[in-house]
Amino acid sequence: MAVTRPISYIRVAVFTVLALIGLVAVVVGVFFGAVPALLTFSALLLLAGVYHVGNLFKLVRWLRTPVDEAAPLPRAFGLWDNVFAEVNLRSRSASTKQERLSAALERFREASQAMPHGLMFLSNTHTIEWVNRQGEQQFGLDRARDQGAPVTNIVRQPDFVRYLKEGNYEEPLTFTAGRPISRTLMVHVVPFSENMRLLMSEDITQVERVDAMRRDFVANVSHEMRTPLTVVAGFLETVIDGLDDLDKEDIRHYLNLAFEQAGRMQRLIQDLLTLSALETGEPILHEEPVDVAMLLEEVCQEAELVSSGRHTIELDCGSHARLLGNAKELYSAFANLAINAVRYTPAGGHIRVGWHQRGAVVEYKVEDDGIGIAPEHIARLTERFYRVDRGRSRETGGTGLGLAIVKHVLSRHQGELLIDSEPGRGSRFTASFPARRLVG
Ligand code: ADP
Repeated sequence: MAVTRPISYIRVAVFTVLALIGLVAVVVGVFFGAVPALLTFSALLLLAGVYHVGNLFKLVRWLRTPVDEAAPLPRAFGLWDNVFAEVNLRSRSASTKQERLSAALERFREASQAMPHGLMFLSNTHTIEWVNRQGEQQFGLDRARDQGAPVTNIVRQPDFVRYLKEGNYEEPLTFTAGRPISRTLMVHVVPFSENMRLLMSEDITQVERVDAMRRDFVANVSHEMRTPLTVVAGFLETVIDGLDDLDKEDIRHYLNLAFEQAGRMQRLIQDLLTLSALETGEPILHEEPVDVAMLLEEVCQEAELVSSGRHTIELDCGSHARLLGNAKELYSAFANLAINAVRYTPAGGHIRVGWHQRGAVVEYKVEDDGIGIAPEHIARLTERFYRVDRGRSRETGGTGLGLAIVKHVLSRHQGELLIDSEPGRGSRFTASFPARRLVG
């Protein structure tokens, strides 16, 4: 805080100087007469005037030096020393205030840049006064180039232009910005000051995508459940209506068909539960060294059961090292791949299941000489409910979730799935894990 000193010292100093000059003139007058006294008085007054004008020049020169040069204060004595000190005090307090203001402004700028949302200051004619980095990215702007230009000249999306022009900012606007890349933005505008607007933007592309996926998933599940449920209801209705007319064999036949469909629903629900448990992102609960060679014997037994002797199934275990992981999850992934090979290979086909270490990776491989898969489907096979041939998948009791489960299990074990296939010749599914997961 600046200390204000009483200014009476100026008056005292002026009177003291005048009194001294007067006193000297009186002494000269007493000894040498009136004319030398008058001359002395005038000369001393002139001297005092020259001294003051000289200091005045010094002061003006100092005041004119640029503030950031921090020129040293001119030196003087007496009254002028006090004057210079006063001026210095004032200039120092002004520059402290300015420094504080600049620091506050800098902090505000840094905070705005660090914000995850876009921020833009617009004038009442929508010219860009300032925009943060996120705002630049989201709208494809360049602050150096676009500052001072109307935002509506650069972002020309009709909904956005209309929203800004209409000036009704109660509800936010959601629109798709086309440049630099297509993304969905949610925009809020807040008028402030007299004619300024603050535009806040949020990139909600990812949220929208997840929402769409969720909607698709619910639609898919409902569709998958509706079909067997309709069939079950249909058979039950037939049995109820024909209870008096149908013979026991027919009733057994219809109930068996209903039972099959109920089994399909059960499998679907079981796969959905497995998938949702895997998708929680929780780390593997019981990780232990898993004897894969032993696990694969069980997998092959299950595949034989599904095949009922229609295929030749061969197991080739080149490694007896154990894999660190969850036995239940690994069994589910490995069995899914082996059983798929059975389901998509016509009778008489060959299936080879293998487990081998190759340098830095260890691979589980299932090869078949079945129907194969056209290249355009391969990238999408691990999507939930994606099937190449819906009819064949259903006929063989598929849920369309098997490979999605496999993909999740593998990624939880730092593994990945590779698919090679040729229509009419067969497929090879390879699950490869980093060899550092091997124990013993
Ligand atoms: P599904 O229950 O339909 O078998 P999956 O997720 O296990 O579901 O497999 C997705 C699709 O991948 C299957 O519908 C099928 O078209 C194809 N597929 C999977 N494994 C094989 C295979 N060994 N040979 C040919 N096609 C396969």
